[in-house]
Amino acid sequence: MIYFDHAATGPISPKALEAFNLANGHFANPESLHKAGYEAKNYLERTREATLALLGLSSSHRLIFASGATEANNLAIRGILQGYPSRGHKILTSKLEHPSVLNVMEYLDRNKLAKVVYLSPDEDGSISPEEVARHMDDEVLLVSIMAVNNETGALSDIEGIARAVKKYPKAIFHTDATQALGKIPLKLDEVDLISYSSHKFGGPKGTGGLFVRKGILLSNILYGGDQEEGTRPGTESYPLAVSSYIALEEEVRSIRENHERADRIRRLLLDWVDGSKETTSNSTLKGSPYILNFSLKHKKASVIVEALSNKSVYVSSVSACSSKHSPYSHVLKEMGKSQGDYENSIRLSFGQSSTLDEAREFIRIIEGIFKEVKDRGQ
Ligand code: PMP
Repeated sequence: MIYFDHAATGPISPKALEAFNLANGHFANPESLHKAGYEAKNYLERTREATLALLGLSSSHRLIFASGATEANNLAIRGILQGYPSRGHKILTSKLEHPSVLNVMEYLDRNKLAKVVYLSPDEDGSISPEEVARHMDDEVLLVSIMAVNNETGALSDIEGIARAVKKYPKAIFHTDATQALGKIPLKLDEVDLISYSSHKFGGPKGTGGLFVRKGILLSNILYGGDQEEGTRPGTESYPLAVSSYIALEEEVRSIRENHERADRIRRLLLDWVDGSKETTSNSTLKGSPYILNFSLKHKKASVIVEALSNKSVYVSSVSACSSKHSPYSHVLKEMGKSQGDYENSIRLSFGQSSTLDEAREFIRIIEGIFKEVKDRGQ
């Protein structure tokens, strides 16, 4: 099997799973007023502190655990709107965001709960600090720009955007760092809100969180108990928190070496994409090395993805979050790609276990498929 779909999700790391199982011994509800409850609470809080420390955010941020980046993105955007009811309601974002941002923005815009301004991407699909600066004014409450695009790997200059936003003291900067955390070395302490999902870095599915800069007023969007300082009600899970921490620690510890390995794999495949008569690239070397997106010039992506799958090679055509409902990539369309290109794109995404040998084998298999499909006249 060749699994090049790590941007959709990956396996939980053995160490994270072991940590989950060990932590399960402390199964008591962290809010329970007995010894087992206090112990679970104590371990949970130590894990929260360790996660903040791992990313150098201990003095600047707090961490709210949530069910993943979808929830964290919803909480960030709607929690800020509710937290600052008397400020301006202008939001800057882009049409290239993940649906868990984009669909919230569309909802707010449609219901006149915010004035949403969509920024224009550069040619590679990133949003530049200059583009953000051009649209900043005193009415801007929130800027939400993802760090790494999940379809193309386009990498926006998050530190530069944070500086552009900081020139307006009332504006708050949120980044969806789901495809960046543990993968791209980023300085995040100037970013007000940072969302992530643990399953993208070897942690368990169904968990993640939101880093919130101290002093930011974030309102709850779910109603329930007092957990997570009342910002995110629901029984906390120490096993999910600690296994996420262990997975993130493994990734952060080897971030450079993993980055270099992914870069070698991406370069080899990009050379093939650039050299093939069948393909055209939608990613650039400036982007995350973990994601490579290309379009097929003469063939249907769905046919090729299925043929690859039949040979146990797993890749995505459009991202898993929208593939069942929309037959094309909204990201590539917004980048101005042609209909043929945005309807026939393939995303390869790599993880800790990906190798150069797999990349070479992928090329051999897909070229064989191109030939078979041609012979069948498809
Ligand atoms: N944002 C980005 C950039 C993503 O890639 C994903 C997952 N595809 C999400 C948010 C949502 O993560 P989850 O499905 O774990 O909530």
